[in-house]
Amino acid sequence: MAGDREITNNRENQGMSILRKPLHSKQLRSFTWSLPVLGWLLGLAACGHAQAQGQINAPPAPIASAAAAESLLVDVLSVDSTIAVRLRYLTPDNFTGAPLPGYEVNRAYLRREAAAALGRVQEQLRAEGLGLLIWDAYRPVSGTEGMVAWAERTGNMKLFKQGYIARRSRHNMGVAVDLTLVSLDTGRPLEMGTPFDTFSDAAHTANATGAVARNRQRLVAAMEAQGFKNYDQEWWHFSFEVPNPVPFDVPVR
Ligand SMILES: [Zn+2]
Repeated sequence: MAGDREITNNRENQGMSILRKPLHSKQLRSFTWSLPVLGWLLGLAACGHAQAQGQINAPPAPIASAAAAESLLVDVLSVDSTIAVRLRYLTPDNFTGAPLPGYEVNRAYLRREAAAALGRVQEQLRAEGLGLLIWDAYRPVSGTEGMVAWAERTGNMKLFKQGYIARRSRHNMGVAVDLTLVSLDTGRPLEMGTPFDTFSDAAHTANATGAVARNRQRLVAAMEAQGFKNYDQEWWHFSFEVPNPVPFDVPVR
C-alpha cells in the first residue's frame, strides 16, 4: 500500500541530519503540504491514533538523525529516578504478543521538555502517596512499523480507522507517553477500568464511573497541570508540545 512505500522511502533518508538541516516552518511550507497534512503531523497521537482515515496516508516527516536523537531525547529516570518504567513493547506482554523491533532495554526516553514536565508530575503526586508507571515513551519508527506489520498480518487494519494505531505516532517523536498511577506504598497500579492498549470504547477516558472515573481524572489532572494532553480514546496516553517535533528511529538502548 501507498503508506508502506512512503515509509520505505522515508527510511532511506535516515542519514539526513536535522542538526544540519533543521525542519523549519519555511521548509515545511516549501513541501507544498496542505494544512490538513501539517495538522496530521502535529496532531497524531501515538499509540498513534491518526485522527481521521484521510490523514493516515499523508507523507510522514523525515526521520531525524541519530545525533539529533541523542541530543534531544533524555532518559526520564535522569530527571526523577522514582518513576517506575515497565516497557510493554520490550516484552511479549503487549497486544502483538511479541517484543517490538527497536526496544532493547527497559528505558523510557522523552524529549527533554516532556521529561522535565513528567518529573514535575511525579513530584506533585508524591505528596498524595502516588507515582507514575510508564508503559511506553519514545518509540522507534521501527517499533511502529512492527505494529503495522502485525495489523496487516492479523487482519486488524480497522484499528487504523478507529484511531488506535497510526503509521506515524507522536511516540516516534518522543513527545508522547503511556502511563498509569501507582500507589507508592504497594507499588500497585490504581484501578483504571481496562488494561493498557484496550482497543475499545471502555478505554475512552470519559467512559468510566465511580472509583475508576476518579482515578482516571486524578491521572489526567496531574498530567494536565504540567502541560500534557490526554488522548480521549485512551486514558493512558498523553502528549506534550515541543518546538519542531521530529520522528526518530534509534533503538531504545
Ligand atoms: Zn500512546
